[in-house]
Amino acid sequence: MSPSRLTRNMPRVEHRELDSATWRLPLVDPFGRSITYLRVSVTDRCDFRCVYCMAENMTFLPKAQVLTLEELDRLCSAFVARGVRKLRLTGGEPLVRRGIMTLVSSLSRHLSSGQLDELTLTTNGSQLSKYAHELKSHGVRRINVSLDTLDAEKFRAITRWGSLQQVLAGIDAAQDAGLKIKINAVALKGVNDDEFPRLIEWAHGRGMDLTLIEVMPLGEIGEGRLDQYLPLSIVRARLAERYTLEDLDYRSGGPARYARVAETGGRLGFITPLTHNFCESCNRVRVTCTGTLYMCLGQEDAAELRKPLRASESNDLLFTAIDEAISRKPKGHDFIIDRRHRRPALSRHMSVTGG
Ligand code: SAM
Ligand code: SF4
Repeated sequence: MSPSRLTRNMPRVEHRELDSATWRLPLVDPFGRSITYLRVSVTDRCDFRCVYCMAENMTFLPKAQVLTLEELDRLCSAFVARGVRKLRLTGGEPLVRRGIMTLVSSLSRHLSSGQLDELTLTTNGSQLSKYAHELKSHGVRRINVSLDTLDAEKFRAITRWGSLQQVLAGIDAAQDAGLKIKINAVALKGVNDDEFPRLIEWAHGRGMDLTLIEVMPLGEIGEGRLDQYLPLSIVRARLAERYTLEDLDYRSGGPARYARVAETGGRLGFITPLTHNFCESCNRVRVTCTGTLYMCLGQEDAAELRKPLRASESNDLLFTAIDEAISRKPKGHDFIIDRRHRRPALSRHMSVTGG
């Protein structure tokens, strides 16, 4: 039963006492899934313009709408108080948010207290040379780096503004700092589909897992998504002709399914939102940098947390809003590429919710 229903008919004094106790109950959705993983987009801005993620002339949010670092800290900490054990900072590009290390440093107190198991981030790697050692010193143990190609020209074409050399230097710095890295590569038809063996051997040769991701239909990006879509079932079948893929039970806390590549000894993950339903074990919710809570990456339904966050210094209103939102977490997602209209199934961009 939700705290609000539980407390509705209680006398005033008992109500207040009960509030603080019940607010600390873990978050469980209507399908019995515990919410233990929060992804937080700390900015919608980015120093790249990946073709599948953003249009080149993106309009970013006015700064006034974006939560301050203190507000982001309070929001994350509220979720930690309610049972979230893993926090992933993402974006946009999380490492271009000014003062980001202040947030990482402050959130690391939950690692020290034992309330949080993991503080991590997803990054394009461009700022890792600058921040890798600091991230490690604040208790970050592993990070995801997005890299779709090892070809400098292709890299520039995919990211529009990025430099492969800078990202590779960032990966070196992160490994040097002792951070474990997982590489994420989006599979793009006719762009990097000839490169997967090279990416596998490079990543595994450096002790990094590699996960391939299907393009998801999020946001208008000014190019036909159907032209980019490459089902991973096809990729996997092709890779299986070349390598021995042994299915693994290993889960990284996200939706990827893993296989061991016998020839390299490394792990290869597949995230297939369009061809495989991974919703039944979903333990995640996402918050945008404006404080909008999305209960499912593939649904439009959302709850605004900025207002309750700013309305008072106490967390009571915020907890009520979070509870109401979690009680609406849907069973599954609705991803479809609209073939007739060649439109994305959802209008928001991945850089809003951070993947
Ligand atoms: N800027 C950071 C980065 O690139 O890692 C973090 C944010 S980015 C939105 C998170 C992940 O989403 C990246 O791995 C990116 O490749 C992936 N991504 C972005 N748009 C996507 C789309 N339409 N379909 C599938 N993956 C997408
Ligand atoms: Fe930026 Fe990441 Fe989107 Fe690329 S995928 S444009 S790096 S937010």
